[in-house]
Amino acid sequence: MDDSAFGSEDARGAWSPKQPITYGPAFAWPPQPRALLKWFFGFPGYLLPWNVVYAVAALVIWQVLTPPLETMKTLSPGWIGLILLRNIALAFAVYGGWHLWLYVWRRQGTAFKYNRQWPKPFPAFRFGNQTYDNMFHTLASGVPIWTAYEVLLLWAYANGMAPLISFADHPVGFVALFFLVPFIHEVGFYFAHRLLHVPALYEVAHKLHHRNISPGPWSGLSMHPIEHVIYFSTILLFFLIPSHPIHMINLASRLGLAPAQGHTGFDRLAMGENASMDVSYYAHYLHHKYFEVNYADGMVPLDKWFGSFHDGTPEAHEAMKARRQMRSA
Ligand SMILES: [Zn+2]
Ligand SMILES: [Zn+2]
Repeated sequence: MDDSAFGSEDARGAWSPKQPITYGPAFAWPPQPRALLKWFFGFPGYLLPWNVVYAVAALVIWQVLTPPLETMKTLSPGWIGLILLRNIALAFAVYGGWHLWLYVWRRQGTAFKYNRQWPKPFPAFRFGNQTYDNMFHTLASGVPIWTAYEVLLLWAYANGMAPLISFADHPVGFVALFFLVPFIHEVGFYFAHRLLHVPALYEVAHKLHHRNISPGPWSGLSMHPIEHVIYFSTILLFFLIPSHPIHMINLASRLGLAPAQGHTGFDRLAMGENASMDVSYYAHYLHHKYFEVNYADGMVPLDKWFGSFHDGTPEAHEAMKARRQMRSA
């Protein structure tokens, strides 16, 4: 598949998209009603496909794959084990799915791949293999810590310790929270991630995630346990925000699963010979490449406000280098 209409490759085999990274119009000032509507309902846009996918997934997970609240009033190994198993299965389906499609079956070759090289055996990784090492951190600590936060909140809802609302009592708030969760996710991720770049925490924890200079899907949740504890702590906000467990599951499953897409290392997913879909997290790819830019993912312009935005253009690159020189002067 030819990806030259969307970007170009430099002499060292680095492919970059033509379009600079933008934030969309959610926070544009003055407001742009037309652009806002187009962004909200368009494809790809705010709703479609990903926020709808995660909302539907939360509905299914709550209805089919979570025990009734009554059962979760007391902590017992039975239902906790079930939630752990369902999260392991979800992780295999999502991280494994992206990995099989793009890296094992290589269904689109290196088309739209930011780094044209495939990962090589590398001694810095456990088992000498980046993917196995990443799977280890995801399954041995990522999924259990995600599950622990979820179990804590479910138990709290069941015992009246987290403020619970229902659709029947608060239909507007109930629906509105679905629209808010993606923002909570992004703002929470930004602050957790900023914290992890404080030098002491970076050294003990976040450095492990950053060994993935050329990331793949399984890099997403490959973190030190300390980072998992900080990263998933956004879930605790539901001790303060009146909500239904479905909203908490919506946030928890995004935190648990979205990093797969955030680290594919591909800009677009090929859909046949001439069609493709934007799956880009180029901002986060640049974060893995340069470490000091793009702490957030790109709907809320936090990096722009706090001076760490890199939109992929040569100008942004010069600005990053100038900031580096200022710091070392
Ligand atoms: Zn990352
Ligand atoms: Zn980082």
